[in-house]
Amino acid sequence: MNDRKGVLVILSGPSGSGKDTVLSELVARNDDIRVSISMTTRKKREGEIDGIHYYFVDRDYFKKKIDEGSMLEYAEYAGNYYGTPKAPVDEMLRNGINVVLEIEVQGADKIRRMYPDVVSIFLMPPSLSTLEARIRTRGTEDEETIAHRLFIAEQEIRRADEFGYVIVNDTVTDAVEAFETIIRAEKLKVSRNKQIISEVTGNV
Ligand code: 5GP
Repeated sequence: MNDRKGVLVILSGPSGSGKDTVLSELVARNDDIRVSISMTTRKKREGEIDGIHYYFVDRDYFKKKIDEGSMLEYAEYAGNYYGTPKAPVDEMLRNGINVVLEIEVQGADKIRRMYPDVVSIFLMPPSLSTLEARIRTRGTEDEETIAHRLFIAEQEIRRADEFGYVIVNDTVTDAVEAFETIIRAEKLKVSRNKQIISEVTGNV
């Protein structure tokens, strides 16, 4: 039917906007959507598993991977490195899997420059007070880190207009449905369906 290559999607949004919750529901509902596993130098939070939530590495290893050219993008955020290993993303896209990069705004900017056609979505918290409450309820960060994350969050929200789409995360179900709608529409774009058009018109 349409171009079998997967869609590359960026999901950004401030810490506490609910990206992880939305993405786990999205992946549970859709066999053809996966989330890229990032590499980070940040310390593991309680409950996080190496190789599932992130690849937790030290700074030397991370720098080696950058030098080898194996990162699609990387950025420094709140004093730690975060980056997307390139090979697994390329492979999933080739196999028709839609890949979501859950990354912050600097990484999103880099990916947009490399792939102008990337679908970029900003997940917006309903308000700043909801955001602060979510970060605090998580209870995984100390006061200084919370303050730093809130500061970054405000800067990030100001950059929401660099994105193609915005989803306000009022309820997880609505946010997931909005996400699915965006991917479905993307798959129907003429630029992704050139082959079927030429087959029907006989201009192969
Ligand atoms: P956290 O420490 O809360 O897991 O993540 C902090 C921020 O880093 C979040 O905004 C998250 O989206 C972003 N992030 C996670 N992985 C990557 C990555 O591979 N690249 C970039 N640029 N940002 C990432």
